[in-house]
Amino acid sequence: MDFTGRTGKIIMKKTFKDICKLAEKLRSGTGCPWDRAQTIETMLDCLKNETSEVAEAVLKKDYRNLKEELGDVLFQIVMIAQIAKEQKHFKIDDVIKDIDKKIRSRHTWVFGEDKAKTPEEAVAMWKRNKSGEKNR
Ligand code: MG
Repeated sequence: MDFTGRTGKIIMKKTFKDICKLAEKLRSGTGCPWDRAQTIETMLDCLKNETSEVAEAVLKKDYRNLKEELGDVLFQIVMIAQIAKEQKHFKIDDVIKDIDKKIRSRHTWVFGEDKAKTPEEAVAMWKRNKSGEKNR
């Protein structure tokens, strides 16, 4: 969605949905031949490379670069989800729904009745909740 800022300049506000549409466009018939040729497997190298660049930026405390590299990782994830959607495996909305459910169900001291006052108690409960998922 675009809007006009205080200076009268048009501000392009981008959303997660815009990034998903960007990936869809790149993969489309009017998109990019390289992007169209990618598979989930070939995207794995891109994801690994971008993840390494995130780690490098963190270790250097280069936060300007970290912002860029997190965007690169995010876009790799969106591209992999786009390919998965085309192959009818799942949609990015399913990824979001599942991680939201997982994070909430593992943080029972935030979203449930448990109490955790220290990081150690939180980790112990996280592990308990995680192993409970596997036994279900
Ligand atoms: Mg990068």
